[in-house]
Amino acid sequence: MQKTHPGPDARQQHITTSPHRIVVVGGGIAGLELVTRLPRGSRRTSIAVTLVDREPAYVWKPMLHTVAAGTSDVSQQETHFIAQARDRHFHFEPGELKGLDRKARKVHLGPLTINGRHILPERDIPYDTLILAIGSQANDFGTPGVREHCLMIDSRSQALGFNREVKARLLESFAAGNTLRIAVVGGGATGVELAAELIQLTEIAGHYGTAALSSQVKVILIESGGRLLRAFPDRVAAAARERLERLGITVLTGARVAVAEPGGFRLADGTRIDADLKIWAAGVKASDACSSLDGLEVTHNNQIVVRPTLQTTRDPSIFAIGDCSSVPLGDAGQPLPPTAQVAHEQAAHLIRHLPGCLEGKALPPFTYHDFGSIVSLGGYGAYGSLGQFGLFKGGFIRGRVAQLGHILLYRSHKARLHGFWRGGLIWLADTINSLVRPRIRLHN
Ligand SMILES: Cc1cc2nc3c(=O)[nH]c(=O)nc-3n(C[C@H](O)[C@H](O)[C@H](O)COP(=O)(O)OP(=O)(O)OC[C@H]3O[C@@H](n4cnc5c(N)ncnc54)[C@H](O)[C@@H]3O)c2cc1C
Repeated sequence: MQKTHPGPDARQQHITTSPHRIVVVGGGIAGLELVTRLPRGSRRTSIAVTLVDREPAYVWKPMLHTVAAGTSDVSQQETHFIAQARDRHFHFEPGELKGLDRKARKVHLGPLTINGRHILPERDIPYDTLILAIGSQANDFGTPGVREHCLMIDSRSQALGFNREVKARLLESFAAGNTLRIAVVGGGATGVELAAELIQLTEIAGHYGTAALSSQVKVILIESGGRLLRAFPDRVAAAARERLERLGITVLTGARVAVAEPGGFRLADGTRIDADLKIWAAGVKASDACSSLDGLEVTHNNQIVVRPTLQTTRDPSIFAIGDCSSVPLGDAGQPLPPTAQVAHEQAAHLIRHLPGCLEGKALPPFTYHDFGSIVSLGGYGAYGSLGQFGLFKGGFIRGRVAQLGHILLYRSHKARLHGFWRGGLIWLADTINSLVRPRIRLHN
């Protein structure tokens, strides 16, 4: 039989009449699904849910590279937290997690500033159960110059900032007749998908009378490992590389960036790569905020260590899910990969078991079902593997089947947020918009 663990303050819950305060920090794939679908109590308990996020709206992160390239319209893809809170009966508290007081059971939020205006002061939010779901970011591994000279696309704001920059640079190059050299560091899914999407951007721009643009843009993808897409099977990586090269992208593997400098990168072997626009999309680490959370245990890359029940090792009333957490599962105790699928499954686990746990039932351990993964090269194809769970274990998929798989991942997530019928209507509206509106805007 599998081992179970007591829930957060199960005994206290039986004698409490006021609602149990669940605070979820981070409204991404894991956090937003959780606050949307968590049952609000039973005859014995009532639950008050608060979501904290530093952004006003959420965009499905596996789509951020399309927002960054400008090939999807962010206003159609985003879910505004305040509207979701009204529809799904939770409270939204805008702000950035800055600290934690475990004894007083409060999270500390920094001040909220919009366009240089001071909107809200620093605040403390009390909780009975805290769920941390603040995701992850690229890891510069301390490489000199990356912070100063590279752009990243880890958040909605960063993706929008990158988009403004790439559009301005494209128009500048077009007007001056220069070549725009774009270098993307990191041959994981983010880097591979972004490189393809940048080519798509120039191709679509060509339809609007800037045909010369595609020959004026050079994209180079730099990966330190021996091949692209390390987390995927060899066959997927080889197919994706072959497709990227056919699109005219230069792919460098076994090339470690030593320094980012104005105008380019210096590799460890001394080679200089000239680039006008530099994007860092390599590695994954959790936010620095995770390492200063009142002594919670973290890994070398800031992920919060949790037990199989998803409770933090040092405090059972605090959970961590999604990319910001590390849960060693299986015989080898290997941590799970930071993927959308893991984030969704962990949220689903808490949606199912947390209410019972607050009534005193034991919390079962989380089990992961690997349904496979897909990398999408926008309009140029998709490649994937079918994972170790379900039919056709470990199979390779490509073409329309893989494209459809990628689309269904997104649409099923939307349906979880908005319900089956509304999710379907949003899909229909998106399809109509893609037919009647321009696919990109080169100026705002
Ligand atoms: C460009 C790109 C493409 C990707 N493609 C794929 C793919 O094809 N397949 C796949 O499985 N995975 C993909 N991933 C990874 C996947 O998106 C993540 O694994 C997933 O989003 C993790 O979900 P999460 O809920 O843990 O975090 P997120 O979805 O990142 O959400 C984190 C939330 O926390 C908020 N937040 C962060 N810090 C703070 C703070 N200090 N205070 C308050 N709020 C905070 C953020 O605003 C955000 O809303 C991709 C990632 C990127 C960047």
